[in-house]
Amino acid sequence: MSNEKKLTTASGRPFVEKEDSLSVGRRGPLLLEDYVLHESMAHFNRERIPERVVHAKGSGAFGTFTVTNDITKYTRAKMFSEIGKKTDMLARFSTVGGEKGSADSDRDPRGFALKFYTEEGNWDLVGNNTPVFFIKDPKKFADFIHTQKRHPFTNMKSQTMRWDYWSLNPESLHQVLILMSDRGTPYGFRHMNGYGSHTFSLINDKDERFYVKFHFKTDQGIKNFTDEESVKMAGENPDFAQQDLLENIEKGDFPTWTLKIQVMPEEEAQNYKWNPFDLTKVWPHDDYPLIEVGKMELNKNADNYFAQIEQSAFAPAHIVDGIGYSPDKMLQGRLLSYPDAHRYRLGANYEQIPVNRCPYMVNNYQRDGFMRVDGNGGRSENYYPNSFDDINVDEKYKLKAPRITDAEAEWFDRNSADAGDNDHYTQPGNLYRIMSDEAKSNLVSNTVGSMSQIEGEKKDEIIMRQLCHWFRADSELGGRIASGLGVEINMEEFAR
Ligand code: NDP
Repeated sequence: MSNEKKLTTASGRPFVEKEDSLSVGRRGPLLLEDYVLHESMAHFNRERIPERVVHAKGSGAFGTFTVTNDITKYTRAKMFSEIGKKTDMLARFSTVGGEKGSADSDRDPRGFALKFYTEEGNWDLVGNNTPVFFIKDPKKFADFIHTQKRHPFTNMKSQTMRWDYWSLNPESLHQVLILMSDRGTPYGFRHMNGYGSHTFSLINDKDERFYVKFHFKTDQGIKNFTDEESVKMAGENPDFAQQDLLENIEKGDFPTWTLKIQVMPEEEAQNYKWNPFDLTKVWPHDDYPLIEVGKMELNKNADNYFAQIEQSAFAPAHIVDGIGYSPDKMLQGRLLSYPDAHRYRLGANYEQIPVNRCPYMVNNYQRDGFMRVDGNGGRSENYYPNSFDDINVDEKYKLKAPRITDAEAEWFDRNSADAGDNDHYTQPGNLYRIMSDEAKSNLVSNTVGSMSQIEGEKKDEIIMRQLCHWFRADSELGGRIASGLGVEINMEEFAR
């Protein structure tokens, strides 16, 4: 038999009639029995899967994580068990609001999603290039995202809708400030930091819990587009970040990030001056210094974008022994909603798709469902317990239960003044005050450029409401934005 590959139908029948349809007469109509024609058109019609509602436009690559510092006193996670240990991984970067074909230089946070193929399961860290987020309660997520997408009437993006929402939700100010700074338009994906953003837990071999923040610092150095450059790039090459990542990896110029962590002993969480589970806040470095952990290097492009990047699915619910959750409400919401999104987009068996599948072991009693293509457990039992198979529960993997400090259920005000959760201004103000003069000026002009697109009957109301927030963060910042917008300020009114 020749080694040459024959052209076949999807069912494996070799065929010849690839380019000419079966017609009645040379110039006549087509016959329904040309199955090859139908198969080709029908499969083509189904090539697209639902795009992600958020983070639709993205790029990714495979790589390696290497431990450089011993953190075993904080975690028993196998991935961190010894210096020099290497773990295969996948990264996917993305913009948030734009559709799959949108420009990847747009002003937007960037997704920073990582999957580590550890020997005790896949660990996904699904963060952003910012350490904070716009909201702190997952109930607000759908409405917030609506404001970043298209207006129901105009079908266009709307700065009015965005600033209306942000101004009505001052908890967003910290993230909005970062978004309006030049870090809102990173120069591709290689020159930005990544943050786990939420607070997670580390659990050590004595079963002690430490709360943790993950920071991936770019070794390429921070580099951003100015607003003007990003707008120009969106027109010239909407795939700039994709191309930049792909080509650098292809030519062997592998981007790296240094993983650092901030660690908070469990008992300190109760009394720390900031709510450590509030996603709109950071832990200042002076209080919780960065501890180096290791290096992540991206060194292999996907061979097939759809198979390995479009079908990749990351979920913060996917933790491994030695890493745990925290009471961060946004994290708690995402634990449910990310796997749910994947089940909708890719099906109940999304974790069996090769790029998502744990390469070490998966043994359970899940069966059937759409696209079950891995043998479905063969003849083995589909119930637990049973007297036949050799799948055992290993007690050493018992999860540490969450610590619940309150026994009262309530729809608690996320911004309660009594609980000290209503300071939306100190941290953004601190960031503004450490910025260079150039960074401050660009922040002001980017903000003025964006806010001056607010329009309609509520324009003045929205602008004044948002200006109050800028003033509260830093009066100089508020004054510069007001003057850029041509708004006369009555300081007494703002002082109220
Ligand atoms: P530090 O001076 O120790 O750290 C400042 C941090 O700000 C650095 O991590 C720096 O990142 C980052 N940074 C600088 N410019 C920007 C920008 N335009 N957008 C986002 N981040 C930026 O101060 P503190 O830890 O006391 O924090 C002060 C403020 O810095 C915070 O209120 C917060 O807004 C911001 N910040 C703090 C972080 C934290 O985890 N503590 C993390 C990121 C920001 P880099 O080293 O990459 O330049």
